[in-house]
Amino acid sequence: MKIKNYINREFVNPISNSWLDNYNPAIGEVYGQIPNSSKEDVEKAYQAAAKAFPKWSNFTLEERSKILSKIADLILEKLDFLAEAESKDNGKSISLAKQVDIPRAASNFRFFANAITQFSSESHESVGLNAINFTLRQPIGVVGCISPWNLPLYLFTWKIAPAIAAGNCIVAKPSEVTPMTAHLLGKICNEVGLPKGVLNIVHGLGTTTGQAIVEHPKIKAISFTGGTKTGAHIARVAAPMFKKLSLELGGKNPNIIFADCDYEKMLATTVRSSFANQGQICLCGSRILVEESIYEKFKKDFIQKVADLKVGNPSDSSTDIGALVSKQHLEKVKSYIDIVEQEGGKILSGGLEVTLPNYENGYYFQPTVIEITDNKCRLNQEEIFGPVVTIMSFKTDKDALTLANDVKYGLSGTLWTNNLNRTMQIAKQLQTGIVWVNTWMLRDLRTPFGGAKESGVGREGGFEALRFFTEPKNICIKYE
Ligand code: NDP
Repeated sequence: MKIKNYINREFVNPISNSWLDNYNPAIGEVYGQIPNSSKEDVEKAYQAAAKAFPKWSNFTLEERSKILSKIADLILEKLDFLAEAESKDNGKSISLAKQVDIPRAASNFRFFANAITQFSSESHESVGLNAINFTLRQPIGVVGCISPWNLPLYLFTWKIAPAIAAGNCIVAKPSEVTPMTAHLLGKICNEVGLPKGVLNIVHGLGTTTGQAIVEHPKIKAISFTGGTKTGAHIARVAAPMFKKLSLELGGKNPNIIFADCDYEKMLATTVRSSFANQGQICLCGSRILVEESIYEKFKKDFIQKVADLKVGNPSDSSTDIGALVSKQHLEKVKSYIDIVEQEGGKILSGGLEVTLPNYENGYYFQPTVIEITDNKCRLNQEEIFGPVVTIMSFKTDKDALTLANDVKYGLSGTLWTNNLNRTMQIAKQLQTGIVWVNTWMLRDLRTPFGGAKESGVGREGGFEALRFFTEPKNICIKYE
């Protein structure tokens, strides 16, 4: 199947007629092609978006809200179909796609359909000066949205929905590795009557198509989710043009477990926070830190639970661990297993590639637990982004905090304890954008989402996203 660019409500070939292969990771085979879009395709998408902007930005909030709600409805109507497409394109288990990815994509549209009708701005009366100031929040114009492969439709729509709700028009690029559900979203937008040019999707490589979006002088804001290295590059390209930037980047998140926690709940959630989506979630708790007094018990119980996880074909509903997204990513994960010994680690469970009968060329890897003693080792400092976690013990609250903060990343942290004072002390001092206490990945879309340190700049979610996608202007009116 050939995916095409979605520009001006039409599905079009790339101008150069150059194409890239799209792989099904479960079987390791090409199953389609996508445009290898160039600068010229990005320009064409920009022109469509720029033309659509004056009209779209003047749609009433109710009109915009109604269209976003219809997109949400249609995503839910097509849930099974979209989940199958996502699972095939990404390698994630069909059950995860059905329970998490696709419902959340619908929620993204539903949430911003409502949020935009409640979004208000400030006014300030300048007492004694006979003046009233108010803040006008206008859409930016044409914005760029670039998303990664791990939660394809979920993260793509997390940007698209607030951007169009706020009245912008978009040039968007999903990951070249997982283009399918973004393509299907274009079809849904046509079905619900999203006006032409409001959303334009160009497919292709990050280094050419993505780069052209970031370099485009008239695309005034870039919302990017992806790796820290790419984020730093985008910041360097965008800064001289003074673009507004939202960067959601990598993570190496601590999962801190105290002896006073609800043990069984913690254990079950820790299995999930370690290996959901094959560990390919920026929020996964890839560094497990356990209080010394329960360390040996945890180690035994955790390994036993991990051994029960079923690595299998993503389309099988009993599969826990599907395929990794690409051969290249599988090789990256394996390269970290190669250095375990040299980094002073010990594999307690897993560590091997899996060959599934009938799917021998798919990209499967065992859920892997590595015991380490030195937080400075590469296994604990670098983002592996696969089904690999490390565990190590700590003695005191202070030790736990020091270990947790001793990385360049600062996306999220999880804390397992029933002690309120400890919760507040540690939560306040964790250098992360998000802290979960006695839970993981419980999301309320009104909350600010994003990372500290090298995990990002800016926040998405709730009104933060609408603030990002609008330009505040102060209007000061003097009266007599
Ligand atoms: P990448 O940074 O490789 O890519 C992300 C997106 O950027 C892709 O669409 C990619 O294109 C594109 N891109 C690559 N180079 C450029 C460039 N020079 N200019 C513009 N765009 C470019 O990340 P991955 O796709 O590998 O995703 C995994 C990373 O994303 C992990 O580090 C993970 O932690 C992070 N992430 C962060 C989240 C957060 O909210 N903080 C959430 C989810 C993931 P292409 O791949 O098609 O070449």
